[in-house]
Amino acid sequence: MPELPEVETLARDLRATVRGKTITDAWVSADAPRLVQEMPVDLFCEALRGRRIEGTSRRGKYLLVELDQGFWWVIHRRMSGNILLRQKPVPDEPYLRARFSLDGGSELRFIDLRKFGTMWLTDDPQPIIASLGPEPLDAAFTPAVLAATLAKRSAPVKAVLLDQAAIAGIGNLYADEALHYAAIHPKRPAASLTQDEVERLHGGIVAALEQGLANLGSSVGNAGKEEVSLRDHVNLNGNAGGNQEYLVAYGREGRPCRTCGTAIVRAKIAQRSAHFCPSCQPLKRLRKRAGKKTARKAKCARA
Ligand SMILES: [Zn+2]
Repeated sequence: MPELPEVETLARDLRATVRGKTITDAWVSADAPRLVQEMPVDLFCEALRGRRIEGTSRRGKYLLVELDQGFWWVIHRRMSGNILLRQKPVPDEPYLRARFSLDGGSELRFIDLRKFGTMWLTDDPQPIIASLGPEPLDAAFTPAVLAATLAKRSAPVKAVLLDQAAIAGIGNLYADEALHYAAIHPKRPAASLTQDEVERLHGGIVAALEQGLANLGSSVGNAGKEEVSLRDHVNLNGNAGGNQEYLVAYGREGRPCRTCGTAIVRAKIAQRSAHFCPSCQPLKRLRKRAGKKTARKAKCARA
């Protein structure tokens, strides 16, 4: 499922490849009736024709495509949406839900196995993104901002990380990674984190997202596969991202923790599957700070 690094990579790739191009034709498949939001599909396609792409950006997991004449094309990839840039006449991919022809003979294709993807055409994207919390890679997102967010919530810290109104752009994968980096159990009540733990979590969020970005996103379903599957995240050129090779928690159930060797556990927390190391991320905070390292080492040795 695309999260901040996957959508940001797409926004950057689009900026480098299609900025300045004009949409010459648009088509939406009849088998994707929920793709276009808040306007009839034929009106959406008609309004896109002739629009020039001025730029692309991201807010949370939303892709924002700025068009000429004051229009915004807003896209949310949801569970399995991918956008590919293809040169005609490359044959259509499976799960093709929409096609946007560009001048010069290339086209953007929206590929979406599960059909949860959504898009809007609007002159004001603000109402769509108004409820989003702060961007975790912005300088304004400080440990103090995170602390204030967590202090108000008794829910498991994992659930708060997934709440787009609390922090924008983090999903199941990067939440698990951030909590592992921070050595915090996903079930800990958000408000129970100490200042030290909040600072570690802040660092973990930034590190996990920046690593995802540096590796052009995570394509877990494509790990070790020779042929890239479009069921999982792929980049604009159709290639898988590389971050799945560097994950420390997500998708590593039963495999040894990279820090201590204990088997990574998968459990249902806040209606989602969470992956964590029961030794490095204990549920009960160890009370004596001085004894912390020794206690963790002892636990790891037992495992
Ligand atoms: Zn561990």
